[in-house]
Amino acid sequence: MDAEVGIIGVGTMGSMAAWQLAKKGVSVLGFEQFGLGNDRTAAGGESRLFRTAYMEGPQYVPLLLKAKELWRKLEKESGNSLLTLNGGLMIGEEDSDVIRNVLKSISDFNLPHEILKGDQARHRYPQFTFYDDDLVVLDKEAGFIRPEMAVVSASHLAMAHGANIKRYTKVDNLTPESGGVRIITDDGKKYKVGKVLISTGAWTSKLMPELQEQLIPRRLLLTWFAPKNLADTGADRLPIFARMRGDFRLTGVPTLDGSMVKASYTKDPLAIEDPEELYRDVYPKELERISEAVETLLPALFPDPVRASAYMDAYTPDDHALLGELPDWKNVFVASGFSGHGFKLSPVIGKIIAELMIDGKTESNISHLEPGRILKGVE
Ligand SMILES: Cc1cc2nc3c(=O)[nH]c(=O)nc-3n(C[C@H](O)[C@H](O)[C@H](O)COP(=O)(O)OP(=O)(O)OC[C@H]3O[C@@H](n4cnc5c(N)ncnc54)[C@H](O)[C@@H]3O)c2cc1C
Repeated sequence: MDAEVGIIGVGTMGSMAAWQLAKKGVSVLGFEQFGLGNDRTAAGGESRLFRTAYMEGPQYVPLLLKAKELWRKLEKESGNSLLTLNGGLMIGEEDSDVIRNVLKSISDFNLPHEILKGDQARHRYPQFTFYDDDLVVLDKEAGFIRPEMAVVSASHLAMAHGANIKRYTKVDNLTPESGGVRIITDDGKKYKVGKVLISTGAWTSKLMPELQEQLIPRRLLLTWFAPKNLADTGADRLPIFARMRGDFRLTGVPTLDGSMVKASYTKDPLAIEDPEELYRDVYPKELERISEAVETLLPALFPDPVRASAYMDAYTPDDHALLGELPDWKNVFVASGFSGHGFKLSPVIGKIIAELMIDGKTESNISHLEPGRILKGVE
């Protein structure tokens, strides 16, 4: 036996799981096809939004509150600043589903917030266009994370606790067998571990074709814009934001030095056939929609992106991840399908994985992430 736990894919979730497992004293063998914290994974692109008043549903709030505590722990243990809470504006039509979820999260969990309307919002945040039926919610427990640094920090802490992480090593195959799981890497080497975690993000359906209907790789563009006035867009002046209006959905965050704002269009990203063939550049045509959205909703920015690049994440049919042991695959666990909103949760996902794999249970309510809900019958 080479280790108690094998982790295939040491990206966002894999690095957090490795940190939590190794801290528990579990022997960990990780495999990562690229280097640690590299920006070809779903952790690329400089920043990730952290939000607590959650438009994806209030069932996430307890996980987000735990995640926040664990971000602070990771910062303390690594000595790196990873999460900045500069507040978050959730802006949308008052009767939309997303705003309803934001308000329900706040009322169910008594989250610190402010609600702004009309001229009050216009006066305080002149960077945006507001309409009379917009509701503006300031989530005070929101901000941004430094994703590459987070993955590097968790991976190196895991190694400091004894984890062995093989970089530039791709796993080609895994097979459950008696007493554990056999793993074969692309250099033909064979390993045996007691249990395995599949945290291969957008590449999961490549490694596990059985899951290709449930875990679809999708391509997301990130775009950065120059401000018309630098004084409007520093992190102290501009909170992170999700600006929804009809078909437009913009999410954004100021860059660390305030010289640009990353404002991206993350609704309905394009499904791609083969994650290994991701087109990482951007076609000019693709920028029309985001430029139009910025011009309409964010007049503080010049509407032509000054930088753009493409990334991937795995999406499930209901946009909630798969987390737990795979039905009919003994000792094989999955943490994938975070559907464009998993980064903020990653430390708590790492902790839950460690609990499920070692203790066989978790106190966190993850019924909405249970793999069995959409994997029935997958063999
Ligand atoms: C552009 C973009 C913007 C986003 N914005 C936000 C946001 O603001 N807030 C938020 O909370 N979330 C956001 N998300 C979502 C979040 O980043 C992802 O849900 C999360 O990072 C997914 O983590 P993962 O571990 O599943 O995938 P990854 O981080 O991609 O990790 C998968 C790892 O597995 C490795 N791997 C794959 N196959 C193999 C193999 N066969 N052998 C060895 N290694 C392998 C990969 O190289 C990679 O390192 C965004 C995602 C994208 C793409």
